Amino acid sequence: MQYCLFCKIINKEIKSDIVYENDDVLIFKDINPRAPVHLLAVPKKHIDSIVDIDKLASGEVYALMTSISKIAKELGLTDSGFRVVANTGNAAGQAVNHLHFHILGKRNFNWPPG
Ligand code: AMP
Ligand code: ZN
Repeated sequence: MQYCLFCKIINKEIKSDIVYENDDVLIFKDINPRAPVHLLAVPKKHIDSIVDIDKLASGEVYALMTSISKIAKELGLTDSGFRVVANTGNAAGQAVNHLHFHILGKRNFNWPPG
């Protein structure tokens, strides 16, 4: 595989601020936070984006989604609300081609997004 920043973070070759980890999932703080809470939830298995979600086992997808729910609850995001975003491809500004869900919370968000 080509160089992948998030694979290196998963493999601990690059340091990150990890908030949750299990066999299938890593959740770490975004290095350039856009909200008081700004995390990235990634599958440990590399896929480029949600377009390739069928390359993950159903258990890996379940683990990813339930991890987001668990962390949102633990961080107290659920009462006020929060946003989960997967930028996909050029038009959405996807910069890192390893599937990641942004988890953004503790402020209000506009809709539609920019
Ligand atoms: P996207 O534009 O949706 O691909 O988002 C990529 C995100 O990765 C951006 O919000 C970056 O701030 C974040 N990012 C880039 N490098 C790192 C890093 N080393 N550790 C944590 N987050 C990073
Ligand atoms: Zn990767």
